[in-house]
Amino acid sequence: MKKIIFLILSLVSFSLFAQNQTYWQQHVDYTMEIDMNVKNYQFNGKQKLVYTNNSPDELNEVFYHLQFNAFQPGSEMDVRLQNIVDPDARMVNNLGTKEAPNYESRISKLKPNEIGFQKIISLKQNNKVVKYEVIGTILKVTLNTPIKTGKKATFDMEFQAQVPVQIRRSGRNNKEGIALSMAQWYPKLAEYDNEGWHANEYIAREFYGVWGNFDVTIHIDKNYAIGGTGYLQNPQQVGHGYEDKTKKLNLPKGDKLTWHFKAPNVHDFTWAADDEYLHDIKQVPNGATLHFLYKNKPQTIKNWKKMQDETIKTMQFYNKTVGDYPYKQYSIIQGGDGGMEYGMCTLMNGNVKLPSLIGTMRHEMAHSWFQFVLATNEIKYSWMDEGFASYISTLASNVNKNNDTFMFERVYKTYTFLANSGKEEPLTTQADRFNTNMAFSIGSYYKGQIFLSQLGYIIGEENLAKTLKKYYNDFQFKHPNPNNIKRTAEKVSGIQLEWYLNEWTQTLHTIDYAVKSTSNKEITLNRIGKMPMPIDLKVTYTDGSYESFYIPLQMMLGKKPMQTTALPYWEWANPNFTFTTSKVIKKVEIDPSLLMADVDRSNNTFEVK
Ligand SMILES: [Zn+2]
Repeated sequence: MKKIIFLILSLVSFSLFAQNQTYWQQHVDYTMEIDMNVKNYQFNGKQKLVYTNNSPDELNEVFYHLQFNAFQPGSEMDVRLQNIVDPDARMVNNLGTKEAPNYESRISKLKPNEIGFQKIISLKQNNKVVKYEVIGTILKVTLNTPIKTGKKATFDMEFQAQVPVQIRRSGRNNKEGIALSMAQWYPKLAEYDNEGWHANEYIAREFYGVWGNFDVTIHIDKNYAIGGTGYLQNPQQVGHGYEDKTKKLNLPKGDKLTWHFKAPNVHDFTWAADDEYLHDIKQVPNGATLHFLYKNKPQTIKNWKKMQDETIKTMQFYNKTVGDYPYKQYSIIQGGDGGMEYGMCTLMNGNVKLPSLIGTMRHEMAHSWFQFVLATNEIKYSWMDEGFASYISTLASNVNKNNDTFMFERVYKTYTFLANSGKEEPLTTQADRFNTNMAFSIGSYYKGQIFLSQLGYIIGEENLAKTLKKYYNDFQFKHPNPNNIKRTAEKVSGIQLEWYLNEWTQTLHTIDYAVKSTSNKEITLNRIGKMPMPIDLKVTYTDGSYESFYIPLQMMLGKKPMQTTALPYWEWANPNFTFTTSKVIKKVEIDPSLLMADVDRSNNTFEVK
């Protein structure tokens, strides 16, 4: 008996241990059919969702996002717009002047026929009516029967929706006249992971979804072309440039076309439609097919044609730098506002100058690797998405430039401005909870980008390149978190990096090193900022020769590969570091690479007069 109890106890503890160690992930299969009315911007939808609970937990409730509901007067998005000091310019009218702004929320002015909504008409779990409650942009469903570990449940929903006037990301009739930008258009199951439910209210940003397969059928006016996530299943029945030109078109009679898309292994489905879209297709050699959908206007046509070869090159560059894009298709679609990344596509502004068009394409496409395939939780770790996408798009923009300027110059300057402004907030802040849009944006895009460029300074450029590839290879389709990028860099470099992740992303510590003194052949360096770093140093001697030194940080318990003279470790606790050189010193320079984000570089160089 005792033996049996012991055996049971050890099995229990083993399975608990196994649960802690094993990564799991929920799964969705959506089948949706919608009927769009392009006159009043309303559509009726049917959605069958088969949800597989791969978690170790029994689920008694599930949550959906109803993101169109954000575009209603009085919504939390509207209230936030009226209270944040630096609202997104696209979402407000400025009734004052540039110097003395007086912002009015555009959402607050929406009329009933202009708002967005997703109304649930009926909802069943396994064919039985189920109870639900709409809380802002969240639908909370109390299940009739719990979904046990490893089991599936089928949810059948009928819903009715109205596409809002374009305020942010999705909507009707954007500034450039695109009829329908359809992001966040369907009731979307929230992600449940080992941290629990991620049923975040839609306030400004951003998205985190469940992987699965989408089968989407859209009935829409026959003059409208659609671009978006997923592979079109019936090109001969829609035409609009998707058809095989060697075969006959087989268009249905009537005013509408039926578009049938399938998208395997994605966590979102987005589309756009317009009755003036031109549609070009280009092929990445041995890669994805690229679709370009844009307005039939002379200047737009000129720029969008010129962008196409750049798009091919950019995708090839990302494939080489990060890893292969796993889908067969990517679409660049004029729509939305600015630029926003989605599954297998982007919606972006089209009537802009060519360099800006290419810049946006590079940035949004870069997200495919981070926001889409890796799919970090953007709400919690926006810096891993925006920052890393920005990093590879900066690399892509500098491929053919071999000038001497530091490619991240503007990025470091912008971060330094924020760090010195007193308005910086830790990158661990939930994306909507930043006090200002400025702190969110500079933190995520710039400080997040520097996380990688500066990691190259710490572990070496070659190790950084390997880290990026290994991270993508090991964590694609797995929602990685900050520890995953840190561990990958540690495994590649043999350098301990907990201190780096902590200081850079979880604190507001800044880096400031100075040359404190030199005398004859002795140099003393001083750590002024709270954040410690390893130091690259260039010393010029009075005879005109120079020598490069490397001072690893003791917490690293390892060194980057360097051709230079390595000095002993510098412990974090010690603010000073002194060493002697072989020749008389003329000039000392801390970090000539500029990759260390020192917030005060005025004291990095010291010259003996
Ligand atoms: Zn972005």
